[in-house]
Amino acid sequence: MRIDWLELEGFRNYEVLHAAFDPGVNVLFGENAQGKTNLLEAVGYLAGARSHRARMDRELIAFDRDRAIVRAGLESRKREFTVEAQLFRGQRRRLSANGVRLKTAGELSQLLRTVLFCPEDLMLIRAGSGERRRFLDDSLCQLRPRYAAALQEYHRLYEHKRRILRDWEEKPSLLELLPDFNDRMARCGAILIHYRAFYVEKLAQRAAAIHADFSGGRETMTVHYQTLRNIPDPRKPSQELYPLLLEHQEAHRRAELESRQCLSGPHKDDLVVFIDGRGAKQFASQGQTRTAALSLKLAERELHYDDLGEWPVLLLDDVLSELDRRRRDFVLRHINGGQVFITCCEEEGLDGLEEGRTFHIRAGALVE
Ligand code: ATP
Ligand code: MG
Repeated sequence: MRIDWLELEGFRNYEVLHAAFDPGVNVLFGENAQGKTNLLEAVGYLAGARSHRARMDRELIAFDRDRAIVRAGLESRKREFTVEAQLFRGQRRRLSANGVRLKTAGELSQLLRTVLFCPEDLMLIRAGSGERRRFLDDSLCQLRPRYAAALQEYHRLYEHKRRILRDWEEKPSLLELLPDFNDRMARCGAILIHYRAFYVEKLAQRAAAIHADFSGGRETMTVHYQTLRNIPDPRKPSQELYPLLLEHQEAHRRAELESRQCLSGPHKDDLVVFIDGRGAKQFASQGQTRTAALSLKLAERELHYDDLGEWPVLLLDDVLSELDRRRRDFVLRHINGGQVFITCCEEEGLDGLEEGRTFHIRAGALVE
């Protein structure tokens, strides 16, 4: 899986860009605020129509424009594709592949997968559960279109329920709507839990092997999926999980009304990491935290390979400079095979990388 060329129009700080890439390593270097991360974001957007940092598509459109275009030529499953995303202010986005309109973002993920690694990910272990859920969701949305659809629906229902809970005291009639939203959230939430449970099981095996290798066999990393307390086995079919979600909602009904917050559901899930049996969030050292985060990310990359038989495109944003020599070498040894985009501020310091192409980025343009 690789990106041969990319064209941008009105995307973030890029007025227009045409770039042709190396099938191996592509280094993007430049000073701060020139557009390095924006370029990675554009590539990542084509893998499932999601940005790793923008909440709304309109943030991706250049300030003075009404439309942004991201277009790329890909090689995927031994075939060539031209994929395109057009984003508009105040209108639905349009996605297409080889000129044919795509109905869902999941169809894009069938053509392109990316794994992004950025400095924030080094804190994946330390941060609140939101970061880890986002990590799970980003992977699963690319791997399983049905998951992406269920997640989108769940977010929509959650927003409605959040507003009902926020406003019910002023408008008690809103409470009549609650049972219906609860029921739909339970159905949708059960699908999310089922998929997450299987994904984490596989991720945990891969991450443990990578972490063992990384630490020279001295440490053991284990990863658990944590969801609603009353679900003993989250891998059960979603039809069997659904009544348990309803039961949990019922038990939290009063507390939700009093606190005016959604307290029950998989939007509270977490991915719990242990090193040598102790919670990494509380007890891991700096170095252990980094190693554990790296292991999770490299495990994610392997799961994409298992699924497709091709390496996903790896996006390393500013991360090599954050790692010490040993960890950097470990990452570089582990990423042979696929296409990689690496951003950095300095061109030097990337020894150990295979030859590829280097691009200098300044003010939203490539400087030859
Ligand atoms: P750093 O090395 O600091 O991470 P970078 O090269 O990765 O820098 P980017 O995050 O790509 O920088 O951002 C480049 C510039 O794009 C920023 O100055 C930002 O203000 C600008 N920018 C962000 N969104 C938009 C937008 N919608 N329209 C125009 N410019 C934008
Ligand atoms: Mg950046």
